[in-house]
Amino acid sequence: MSDSSTHYDVAILGGGFSGGLLAWVLAARGMRVLLVERDRFGRFVIGESSTPIADLVMRQLAEKYELPKLHALSTYPSWKQTFPNLRCGKKRGFSYYHHGEVRSDEIASDGFQDHMDGTSGAKRNSLMVTASPNDTWADTHWLRSDVDAFFVEQATLAGADCRECTQVVSAEMGEPVRLILRERTQREDKRTSQSVSAGWLINASGRFGVLPEDLAAFIGLRRVDQRLQTNTRSVFAHFRNVRSWTDELRRTNQLGEDEPFDPDDAAQHHLTADGWMWMLRLDHGVTSVGWTEPNGRDSVDWQRYASLQRLMRDATFDEATPDWISVDRVQRMQTPIRLRNYIAMPTAVATIDPLHSTGIAHGLIGVARLADALLSEPARQADLLASYAETVESELLRIDSLVAMCYRCLRSMLRFEAVSMLYFAAAINSEEFLASGGEVHSPLWFLDNPEFGRLIDATRRQLDQDVTDTELWDWLRPRLQAFQTAGLLDPAVGGRYRYTGEAKA
Ligand SMILES: Cc1cc2nc3c(=O)[nH]c(=O)nc-3n(C[C@H](O)[C@H](O)[C@H](O)COP(=O)(O)OP(=O)(O)OC[C@H]3O[C@@H](n4cnc5c(N)ncnc54)[C@H](O)[C@@H]3O)c2cc1C
Repeated sequence: MSDSSTHYDVAILGGGFSGGLLAWVLAARGMRVLLVERDRFGRFVIGESSTPIADLVMRQLAEKYELPKLHALSTYPSWKQTFPNLRCGKKRGFSYYHHGEVRSDEIASDGFQDHMDGTSGAKRNSLMVTASPNDTWADTHWLRSDVDAFFVEQATLAGADCRECTQVVSAEMGEPVRLILRERTQREDKRTSQSVSAGWLINASGRFGVLPEDLAAFIGLRRVDQRLQTNTRSVFAHFRNVRSWTDELRRTNQLGEDEPFDPDDAAQHHLTADGWMWMLRLDHGVTSVGWTEPNGRDSVDWQRYASLQRLMRDATFDEATPDWISVDRVQRMQTPIRLRNYIAMPTAVATIDPLHSTGIAHGLIGVARLADALLSEPARQADLLASYAETVESELLRIDSLVAMCYRCLRSMLRFEAVSMLYFAAAINSEEFLASGGEVHSPLWFLDNPEFGRLIDATRRQLDQDVTDTELWDWLRPRLQAFQTAGLLDPAVGGRYRYTGEAKA
């Protein structure tokens, strides 16, 4: 074993988007950075739908650290113009459609279900929440293999030492941290090891991260999945030839004349009483498709739903995923988040759920917080990091509580819409706070407002009492007003929310 004892300011474990971007930012500012990825850079990974908060944080990072290439990725048009080969899709908002089950002899008919809107008497089976006022400000779905590899490429150009197919086989926590690295690609008898040291050790290993045993034991790392209320399983893959939902709506005369955006340019949610299917359409003809349903119930095949079957009739697996990938429980959480010079990114602490697409935004917020802290002088750094763990943990539990409530309301569009608006109120508030110059280290998702926490608890109690959809709306609507000016839960808009936040005004 060679012992070159190279020293780095920061060692980052995990070359997904969060590890790659943090490496890029820090290296661009002159830090000596080691990025270790146990797999290949740019491997397939799920988690592709970005959000207004994500794009805003990316823009702010780009401006603060003078990274124009990163800035270009913060809207769909500038992304396409600057990096036409970096594959992505257009996202104008979140669209939701409620589907009913249809017997196989009715498969030719439409399974798209009608609901009576208790507040206006109108039929309601869909919901559209706008994220950008026009195409100029559109968000993106990221083809993660491309984006993750791009960030690592930029980190390398900025001077980071980025190593793929490399494992940390042993680590000694101290100041500095000592790591033994081993390449994984060579034949076992030819593998070489190297000892390195680093001032900081950042865990950016995501949902599937496993740290070396001695490191995990020293940190006292343990799984605390039981703390999360959301409990879902998921199957997903990339497909070609998924049919257009916009065309389906048009064909069945259900496409409104004045929709806020094209339903296909969205994080598309096909809801059923049993679970929901996401569809994220990428420009190169591939659609990311996933079916997620609550654990603890009998498993339901999405093919039971005629309209989903129709959308998937001609679909074939893309080469990136030759078959469905299944995850028994999506949710994972591990603590502690910080111990001395060890810090975990939010996305390495927990995965909540695909619903509401919170992972990319939270990962980017983690990058912004850690870049700021690690680049600060010691006194400010200590201040910034003092509350990092508590903030990240509370945010994850907040997101979890909002998502879990949505799963309790899958049975009807109106019910789902009502509780989803708690999430959107919190997300819009965070976006506006950051856009107006708010400190990225502050707790987001309304954590600074205890009243909002009480409203979540009270809403949960309403659900426990099994109130009707109309009763839920009538109860929640006035109570949500104190937390939003975006017109959420306005029955007059018929489930079409056009507010797009201050950030893009
Ligand atoms: C089914 C599903 C759907 C999702 N959909 C969305 C969505 O639509 N929108 C959204 O915002 N989020 C979504 N997410 C969440 C999203 O996937 C994650 O937030 C995101 O992938 C985190 O990125 P990351 O770079 O932090 O980690 P990852 O992408 O998980 O990357 C971590 C990397 O670390 C490597 N690694 C692991 N252990 C080690 C180690 N010990 N040493 C070195 N390298 C290591 C891994 O190989 C991997 O490449 C979804 C999650 C799931 C499970």
